[in-house]
Amino acid sequence: MKTQVKTYEMFINGKFVQAKNGGMREIVDPANGEPLALAPEAGRADMKLAILAARAAFDKGPWRKTTAQDRGKFLFKIGDLIRANAKALAELEVRNMGKPLVEAEYDVADAANCFEFYGGLATKIHGETMSVPANSMSFVLREPIGVCGQIIPWNYPLLMSAWKLAPALAAGCTAILKPSELTPLTALALARLIHEAGLPPGVVNIVAGPGAGAGEELAESPLVDKVAFTGGTLTGRKIAIAAAGNLKKVTLELGGKNPNIVFADADFEAAVDGALFAAFANQGEVCSAGSRLLIEKSIHKKFVDTMLKKISRIKLGHGLSAGVKMGPLVSAAHRDKVEGYIKAGIREGAKLVCGGGRPKGAEFARGFFVEPTIFDDVKPTMRIAREEIFGPVLSVIPFKNEAEAIHIANDSEYGLAAGVWTLNVNKGIRVLKELRAGITWLNTYHPTFNEMPWGGYKQSGNGRELGLYGIQSYLETKQVNINLDETPLAWY
Ligand code: NAD
Repeated sequence: MKTQVKTYEMFINGKFVQAKNGGMREIVDPANGEPLALAPEAGRADMKLAILAARAAFDKGPWRKTTAQDRGKFLFKIGDLIRANAKALAELEVRNMGKPLVEAEYDVADAANCFEFYGGLATKIHGETMSVPANSMSFVLREPIGVCGQIIPWNYPLLMSAWKLAPALAAGCTAILKPSELTPLTALALARLIHEAGLPPGVVNIVAGPGAGAGEELAESPLVDKVAFTGGTLTGRKIAIAAAGNLKKVTLELGGKNPNIVFADADFEAAVDGALFAAFANQGEVCSAGSRLLIEKSIHKKFVDTMLKKISRIKLGHGLSAGVKMGPLVSAAHRDKVEGYIKAGIREGAKLVCGGGRPKGAEFARGFFVEPTIFDDVKPTMRIAREEIFGPVLSVIPFKNEAEAIHIANDSEYGLAAGVWTLNVNKGIRVLKELRAGITWLNTYHPTFNEMPWGGYKQSGNGRELGLYGIQSYLETKQVNINLDETPLAWY
């Protein structure tokens, strides 16, 4: 599992460069704490250069005049290159972020598919026409919004890069992407593929650096027209405030504390599997994780007992080791935060029924592992029921009837995702309609498609990514009115 420490460069104005002040960050493998890579640590000066490059590429460069067909071809080429490099990208994602290989492979395929979806959509950006009143004709032109700052978190580094870049490029925008300082490697590897695809300089810039300085510059800069952010709700608020300086357009994909509701008439085995997958996929480091499991009282005990029997199947280890289903958390600091929530759950009187600590054994000693953890009899008022933990900690909350389930589910400042399990389809749809969440599932949890909109209600965000909706936030709308009558107006 040992790997050579490689030095990465970022991508500004078509060139691979280091930070101006020589700043570097050591990236470690979270499964064993071993040095993995050195990545540039950009500051405001580097970000300013990237913004200027994206500005010039938009205002004076060839990108805006590149036809939609050709933009689409570039996107297909990037998709092809991702597929051709899928193995290396998936392994790099595992080493940098910690997720199991099977999940990283899925992310890589999904990232390629995202570029392909928007490659196809590039030629389908159409406006409406109107021909009333009789002596006029009006139509709508859709135009690229301009220079886009794109800031992403550490849990799906390559996939989030695709979600951000693909619609922006399809729309004809130029972009500066800032990956998380913890997980910049696959975004920097993607920069190499984008270069190979032959995009003109400055159209895509990928700048590795922290939120303080580099990220703030991107959010504040008056030269940026739009900022698309995925990350925590607190950071999202700061971005919205920073972006207000020039009233740039803002889209936000933020946190969640998502309810997964199991009714007594659900398919029991499917719901047990679904509940575990909802909570523990990607170590629970998923904005849409089903981290609040609401179970109808009549099956509550049996359901928890069955989950406990199955939980030993979640094999922990390095994501590249065979059979591993759960990797380490992304960093020691994040592990400490998750452990803080586990202590808070115990303090507040929730019943810890499994996990709660670090796994024992030499192979875990230097990684940032936390066991899959379940708290039972959680009260909706407890912190572990209200705050996003973003780790492998599931809070089980029993409920007595449909109305109470809906009430508990909606009693949250968040509204990102929600799941419902019942074989009564009428009830399932009735409950889904009541839930204040942007992504919902009936008798499944987590599947989502590049073709469908992604985003949250309430404090889980603002706007939608993906699908036909996702491209809208990268487009301006221009009204064009044409007079068909030569008669002078004679107003005065
Ligand atoms: P974070 O908010 O700490 O950081 C996200 C990004 O913002 C990073 O690139 C970081 O460097 C940058 N950043 C931090 N402060 C900044 C500032 N003041 N100005 C500009 N940039 C700044 O989030 P994280 O810990 O990387 O990721 C976890 C969070 O992301 C969770 O809350 C999770 O729910 C959320 N998330 C949401 C979605 C979604 O689609 N809704 C998807 C994935 C993750």
